[in-house]
Amino acid sequence: MIVFDLRCANAHVFEAWFASTTAYEEQAGAGQVRCPLCDDPDVTKAVMAPNVAAKGNRVSHAEAKAAISALAAAQAKALASSSWVGADFATRARAMHLGEEKHAPIHGQASLAEAKALVDEGVPVAPLPLPVVPPKALN
Ligand SMILES: [Zn+2]
Repeated sequence: MIVFDLRCANAHVFEAWFASTTAYEEQAGAGQVRCPLCDDPDVTKAVMAPNVAAKGNRVSHAEAKAAISALAAAQAKALASSSWVGADFATRARAMHLGEEKHAPIHGQASLAEAKALVDEGVPVAPLPLPVVPPKALN
């Protein structure tokens, strides 16, 4: 299967799947390929220009890598003063919220249900932007 961006005489651009380029040419030549918007059988392969049109909005690979590196550095810095509590995260966060335990920055693991419950209870928790590798040498 092959996908083509097609364009009708009214400048509608749409995607269509074909078994092969030949199949497309045969069907288009026979007027069997029609624009889904205006039913125009006069379709041609569209010259797509998203790279030109949206260039200002696109992030290059290098920029994306730099952004992730910056995010990783920021997260590492934020976690430097935070204690890994692993699977006890929900229990510890709740205890701190209820005043049963002294407040301290912690990070750890919580299931989606646990995280949701904490948020519902008003416990200020937030997902980390990047995954954290749990320290193995912890008791
Ligand atoms: Zn059309």
